[in-house]
Amino acid sequence: MAAPQQANRSITCHCKAIRITFPPLREPALECLCSVCRRYGALWAYYKPDEVHIEGDAIEAYVWGKKTLSFNRCKNCGCMTHYTVVRDTEPRVAVNCRMLEKEEFESLESEQSDGD
Ligand SMILES: [Zn+2]
Repeated sequence: MAAPQQANRSITCHCKAIRITFPPLREPALECLCSVCRRYGALWAYYKPDEVHIEGDAIEAYVWGKKTLSFNRCKNCGCMTHYTVVRDTEPRVAVNCRMLEKEEFESLESEQSDGD
């Protein structure tokens, strides 16, 4: 018999206007130290777009430079919830694990990347 499947996780922004549901993490969440992620203090888990369910209409995007990434935050409470790759051969969604509830966040494995 197959091992029981781990339940999906979900995050919300602080005001709960945005909710994102996604599969259990396959690898440690990544604290990226690139110019933008470092400022957001984000901790990312990466997925294919069809693995992630995003609910809420309070999403505001920040896109700059080569316009390959869209950093998405809640326009009510300002929390950075996820980014999406908008122009690339490999579309993906990164979920910000800092938005987990405290207990789940504290049990999360993570590592750092320099982001270059
Ligand atoms: Zn919010």
